Amino acid sequence: MRFVYLSSILILAIACKQQPDNHANKITGAKKFHHITFLLYENFDTSLLSSAVAEATTFYNCTATVLSSQDLPAFAYQGYRYKADSLLKFQTSLLPTSAESVVGITNKDISTSQGEHKDWGVFGLGYCPGKACVISVFRLKSGTYDQIKERFIKVVLHELGHNMGLPHCNANNEHCLMNDAKGTGATVDKEKKWLCPNCQQLLSN
Ligand SMILES: [Zn+2]
Ligand SMILES: [Zn+2]
Repeated sequence: MRFVYLSSILILAIACKQQPDNHANKITGAKKFHHITFLLYENFDTSLLSSAVAEATTFYNCTATVLSSQDLPAFAYQGYRYKADSLLKFQTSLLPTSAESVVGITNKDISTSQGEHKDWGVFGLGYCPGKACVISVFRLKSGTYDQIKERFIKVVLHELGHNMGLPHCNANNEHCLMNDAKGTGATVDKEKKWLCPNCQQLLSN
């Protein structure tokens, strides 16, 4: 009976570690941002924006500036979507010297090349490592407003993780923020605003 009781505690402790709550945790480690910049493309939902800024500055323990809204550059538009790679180059050219990353956010559909797909729609794209990432809510828009907001925030935190040099989660932990969403909202929904021990360790070096 005593053994069962101790085992239960152990299982509960492991479960807690594998199922972090959904509030933004803070990263720890030698690598960190000090200041990031958000760039709005055209009209963007101010509630989504302010939530993302609040959670990104909490998670990365940094400050942030929001630049005034900017038109999407025409050269980035190719057929049906805006090329995320072109937007990253555009944003880098606007990067203030004080910022370590510029986060572009848009309602428009964005894409990148993936394997044989030349125009693969994505939630976001970020240099790894680097100083720019871009996030679109276009493909996150199903479900309730709160679900959309949570997905959007997770993608912002994920792309900033790439900017910091984090690759996709090599532990394949479905709760880890750096898990590869593979283009599905359901995968993003399983992620937490949390880095698994493997990804956290990468920030310590
Ligand atoms: Zn991970
Ligand atoms: Zn990614």
